[in-house]
Amino acid sequence: MRIDVVTIFPDYLAPLELSLAGKAREKGLIDVRVHDLRQWTHDRHRTVDDTPYGGGAGMVMRPEPWGEAFDALGIEGATVVFTTPSGQPFTQAVARELATRDRIVFACGRYEGIDQRVLDDVATRAEVREISLGDYVLNGGEVAALAITEAVVRLVPGFMGNAESLLEESHTLSDSGARLLEYPVYTKPATWRGHDVPPVLLSGDHAAIASWRHDQAVRRTAERRPDLVHPSVLLDDVEIRPVR
Ligand code: SAM
Repeated sequence: MRIDVVTIFPDYLAPLELSLAGKAREKGLIDVRVHDLRQWTHDRHRTVDDTPYGGGAGMVMRPEPWGEAFDALGIEGATVVFTTPSGQPFTQAVARELATRDRIVFACGRYEGIDQRVLDDVATRAEVREISLGDYVLNGGEVAALAITEAVVRLVPGFMGNAESLLEESHTLSDSGARLLEYPVYTKPATWRGHDVPPVLLSGDHAAIASWRHDQAVRRTAERRPDLVHPSVLLDDVEIRPVR
């Protein structure tokens, strides 16, 4: 998978060299390239913004540098992700979908956003996805591009050493058809500061452990995210408390 990120703050993307995405690059699974949008400006001040038509506060990103950037990168057939608080909320399902793409180009907005004509133009030759990291407003799209990249890259086949660990993760569809949060996890020692690991996890009884984990996942989801849990997997004795 090739990932291009276009931004006016390329240094913001430095963490892509580290940790998960860094590992994927080393394994040759992804090829990440970060581009400074200002290289496609032609004035002395390398201007990328201007005042909004119609008036109002703030500045809007001009279309010309973006147009030149996408021409230079050759986006035909790519998926171009515009990060925006007015986009589709980013979820594990969206991450799974993006993990199937060969090429993703991130456009990181700043100021009041990017001139709408850029998106309209890109849509004539590439798949456009407007994606929001959540219902809040960031200063720019870089953090969203980082988060989306990390969630997508770990789903690329061959990335996870143990692909099974993906199956039981939070927000993954379970066999019962529910999207559950993950059960609580424990490691050694068996007792720590007077807190014991639940005895069933030390029992060696795999069926009992699987059943306990499923119950815990349902319970946790019902308590914390009742919007996620499917009624068919609710335990009789799970009391759904209001989300804090
Ligand atoms: N005026 C815009 C609005 O109200 O929708 C917000 C602009 S915001 C200050 C600047 C840039 O940050 C956006 O163009 C977008 O790229 C990015 N951004 C802000 N919040 C975001 C979010 N929740 N998800 C994804 N990108 C976001």
